[in-house]
Amino acid sequence: MSATPAATPLVSEVDQLLQSLGVPRAAYNGGTLAARSPITGEVLAQVPQQSAADATAAIGRAHAAFTAWRNVPAPRRGELVRLLGEELRAAKADLGLLVTIEAGKIPSEGLGEVQEMIDICDFAVGLSRQLYGLTIATERPGHRMMETWHPLGVCGVISAFNFPVAVWSWNAALALVCGDSVVWKPSEKTPLTALATHAIAQRAIARFGADAPEGLLELIVGQRDIGEVLVDDARVPVLSATGSTAMGRAVGPRLAARFARGILELGGNNAAIVAPTADLNLALRGIAFAAMGTAGQRCTTLRRLFVHESIYDQLVPQLAKVYANVQVGDPRTAGTLVGPLIDRMAFDGMQKALEQSRALGATVHGGGRVEGVGGADAYYVRPALVELQKHEGPALHETFAPILYVVRYSSIDEAIAMNNAVGAGLSSSIFTLNVREAELFMSAAGSDCGIANVNIGPSGAEIGGAFGGEKETGGGREAGSDSWKAYMRRATNTINYSTALPLAQGVTFDV
Ligand code: NAD
Repeated sequence: MSATPAATPLVSEVDQLLQSLGVPRAAYNGGTLAARSPITGEVLAQVPQQSAADATAAIGRAHAAFTAWRNVPAPRRGELVRLLGEELRAAKADLGLLVTIEAGKIPSEGLGEVQEMIDICDFAVGLSRQLYGLTIATERPGHRMMETWHPLGVCGVISAFNFPVAVWSWNAALALVCGDSVVWKPSEKTPLTALATHAIAQRAIARFGADAPEGLLELIVGQRDIGEVLVDDARVPVLSATGSTAMGRAVGPRLAARFARGILELGGNNAAIVAPTADLNLALRGIAFAAMGTAGQRCTTLRRLFVHESIYDQLVPQLAKVYANVQVGDPRTAGTLVGPLIDRMAFDGMQKALEQSRALGATVHGGGRVEGVGGADAYYVRPALVELQKHEGPALHETFAPILYVVRYSSIDEAIAMNNAVGAGLSSSIFTLNVREAELFMSAAGSDCGIANVNIGPSGAEIGGAFGGEKETGGGREAGSDSWKAYMRRATNTINYSTALPLAQGVTFDV
C-alpha cells in the first residue's frame, strides 16, 4: 500500500533537500516503504522498493560493468573516486542535514558522517596508485616470483541505519579503485540518504565519462529479503554486511556455503577501563561522548565502564551529574547533544534492559522517556547510567541505546578479563597514565578487540586505520590500512627466465 505523506514543514524541507541533491521525485514518491524521521516520528516519503527480480537484474548490470571496469587502470579508477569526493564536498551541507533528519544525529555528527565519506575518498585516491604486490625471493635460479592484485568482481554492501551513508563509502571508495563494481542495499530505515548518495555518485560518474560503465554503482532499496538476494548470488564474490550480530549469524553461513568472502561488521559491546592514575577530567569527557553521543547508537558506543575502586566514588557521582544535565532533544536545537532513538523497537529494547538491571539490584540513573519533544512516534530518552554490583545480565549483550553499565574493579587483570568476557569484540579503551597498564592493555594478553585505545574512548574512529572487530563482531576490516586487500584477489606468479627447469624442493622428474 502506498500513501502520500502529510504535507508538513519537515516533509517540504526534505523534498527540497532531495531536489537540491538531485534525487528524482519518482524515487521517493508513491512507493511502499515509509521513510521516517526519528526527530518527529513522521513519515517523510513513500519510497518504491525493488523486487528480488530487480535486485538480480542490478547484480547482472554490476557484473557486466565489472568486466569492463577491471580493465581501466587503477589510477584512472582513482580519478572517479576523486570526483566523488568533490561531489560529496559540494553536497556536504545538504547530505549532512539529511542524515540528521533521517537518522536523528546532531548536526556536527551528520556533517561528520559526510566528512568521513570525503576522507575515505581521499584515502582511496592515493591508494589507487599503491595497490602494491610483493616480489618474493625464489629458491630456483633464473626465476622470479611475485604477487599481483586483481579486481575481484561485484562487491555487495548491506548497511545499517546508524551510519546510513558512511559505511557505503568505506566500501565503495575502496572497491572502485580496486576495480570492483558495487551493489548497495541500505537499511530500510534510512532509504532517503541512500537515494541522495546514489544521486551524488551518479554525478561523479557522469563527469568521469565513458570509461565508467553503466551499472558500476547500483542501489537496491528494500527489506532484508532483498539483502538475501545479494547474499546468495554467485556473481557477488565479496559482501560487506554491517548490522547486528543476529544479521551476521544469518548471512555468514550462507556466504560460507558458496565460498564467498564476507566482510562482517557486526554488533559491539565496548568497554573502557578507568585506572587509578587516569586524568579524570579527560576521562569524564571521553566517556560522555563515547557513551551518550549518537544517543548510544554507534557500533563503537561505550556500553561498559570498569572503574577502579580507589576512584569510583570520585568519578561515578560526577558522571551521574553529567548524565542528569546533558541536553536531550531535537538534534537541530542548539545545545542538544543527545537526539532521538531510531524507533519504538529501540526504546522498548532499552526499557527491557533497564528492567533486567533493576531486577539484579542495580542503581539506575536516568533512562526514562523524555516527553514533550517530537510527536507520539518519536522516542527521546535520558541516557542511563547503571551501577551494577557485578558484571552480569544485560551488560553482557549489546542493547542499541544509551545505557552505560558501571562496575568496580580492583586489579587490572580483573578489568581486562571483564573487557574480554563478552561475545562482541569491536572496540575498547583504557584511561591511565601508567605506561605498564596501557601497554598491557594493548598487548597480546590485553584487550581482545579489533580496536584498543588509550586515553580516548572506544568510539569515533578515523578512516586511516582498519576498522572492525573480532569474535561476534564478525572479524571484518574496512576503511584504512590494508583493508583494500579484501576487495581484490591475489595471484602468485612465478616466471622462469632461464633455459633450465629446476623444480622446487629438489624434486626431480626427468622424462
Ligand atoms: P540490522 O541487523 O537490523 O540491519 C542491518 C542491515 O542488514 C539492514 O540493511 C537489513 O535490511 C539487513 N539485514 C538484516 N537481516 C538480514 C539478512 N538475514 N540477510 C540480508 N540482510 C539482512 O541492524 P541495524 O539495526 O540497522 O543496525 C544496528 C546494528 O548494527 C548494531 O548491532 C550495531 O552495532 C551494528 N553496526 C555495526 C557496525 C560495525 O562496523 N561493526 C557499524 C554500524 C552498525
